[in-house]
Amino acid sequence: MSSHYQIVIIGGGNAGLSVASQLLRKRSNLNIAIIEPSEKHYYQPAWTLVGAGVYDINKTVKKEKDFIPKGTTWIKEAVTKFEPQLNTVVCTNGKEISYDFLIVCPGIQLDWGKIKGLKETLGKNNVSSNYSFEFAPKTWEFIKNFEGGTAIFTNPKGAIKCGGAPHKVMYLAVDYWRKKGILDKCDVHYLSGGSIIFGIKEYAKTLDEVVKRGNIKTHFKVDVTEIDGDKKIAYYEQENSSGEVERKSIPFDLCHAVPPQSAPDFIKKSPLTNLTIPSGYVDVDKYTMQHNVFSNVFSLGDSSSAPCGKSGAAIRKQAPVVVANVLSILDNKQPTAKYDGYAACPIPTQYGKLMLAEFDYSNTPKMSFPIDQAKPRWSMWILKTKVLPWLYWNKILKGTA
Ligand SMILES: Cc1cc2nc3c(=O)[nH]c(=O)nc-3n(C[C@H](O)[C@H](O)[C@H](O)COP(=O)(O)OP(=O)(O)OC[C@H]3O[C@@H](n4cnc5c(N)ncnc54)[C@H](O)[C@@H]3O)c2cc1C
Repeated sequence: MSSHYQIVIIGGGNAGLSVASQLLRKRSNLNIAIIEPSEKHYYQPAWTLVGAGVYDINKTVKKEKDFIPKGTTWIKEAVTKFEPQLNTVVCTNGKEISYDFLIVCPGIQLDWGKIKGLKETLGKNNVSSNYSFEFAPKTWEFIKNFEGGTAIFTNPKGAIKCGGAPHKVMYLAVDYWRKKGILDKCDVHYLSGGSIIFGIKEYAKTLDEVVKRGNIKTHFKVDVTEIDGDKKIAYYEQENSSGEVERKSIPFDLCHAVPPQSAPDFIKKSPLTNLTIPSGYVDVDKYTMQHNVFSNVFSLGDSSSAPCGKSGAAIRKQAPVVVANVLSILDNKQPTAKYDGYAACPIPTQYGKLMLAEFDYSNTPKMSFPIDQAKPRWSMWILKTKVLPWLYWNKILKGTA
């Protein structure tokens, strides 16, 4: 059984719904199918706030059917295979779907299994992760009930969605323990695969101060390989000054863990990627978001190879580019719209204060507001906790923001 659509979108997450809505707003007669297996749609950026006890987890999930744009066809399946030479994708049930244009955005894969023991201990032994709908509420439970001891916060090597989330939770935890009056009994460690706290020096300066104020011990170029929940020990590898890798361990009383991440396996083993692309993402031109081999294929969001900060903020700027370029090709014109690598990372430095880091491919600040955004502010906290969630459900997914 096979069916054909003018445009097929894989993934009805942040990217897929934004693009579908924007396409239809530009041209209502387009014949679009969205292939999406999940009945639920998640607003993941709020999971940081859930883990800090200031947001209800139930408000981060809504029914997918309420957001599938009217005028599109929802195919409730998962794609398992790409056949770009035949302009076809294959779904789990064996159904083949062909297209004129393909837009690939099934998100990123959380490789929990790459940290030995992590999956088994999540939600128990004071080990949690804001990277999961199920376990973000546990983060808050563990932080709230912590009475002191060693707390570790891990950040894997390689690209992840929301590069700030592994340390956002740490700043809020430290602030909570400070207010509870137990911070002097807390030994806080940040174990990061990165080599610095943040890639852009103007914003890093602010975070360095937050780290110092919280007496947080930072460990960089670290690869956490195992978490033994029963014994409460994390094992990690770290490069020493002579470039040799040493295996080390750290006992903990509380652990917030972030899994390594990569392209979904069905992309990794497809012709849409190649061995030169780290972690198997869809090989696109980082400006036009068009596939580098198959010109009728585009990709955006977490699954694309664009070397930006993987985030919803990036998608807000990528979606109009994909829409403009697909419509150009439909009109027999060149795809000339360009994405500049814009991404944003709203980093709460304490309860009630947030630094809105915005930047692009040049790794320089690209601030939207006429104020110094490297300074944490109450107004930006309100933006993150109230304005952005509203914008997401009411404007971004509907293609009007
Ligand atoms: C803890 C946390 C904090 C974050 N904080 C922020 C923040 O402050 N600001 C920010 O901008 N971003 C933040 N993000 C990142 C943001 O949520 C993601 O970048 C964004 O959701 C990516 O959108 P996407 O459409 O690429 O993927 P997703 O929104 O994850 O959607 C992917 C969709 O594809 C579907 N899918 C998967 N496999 C298949 C398949 N085989 N076939 C068809 N469909 C499939 C899934 O069911 C899903 O609906 C955060 C993320 C996390 C986890």
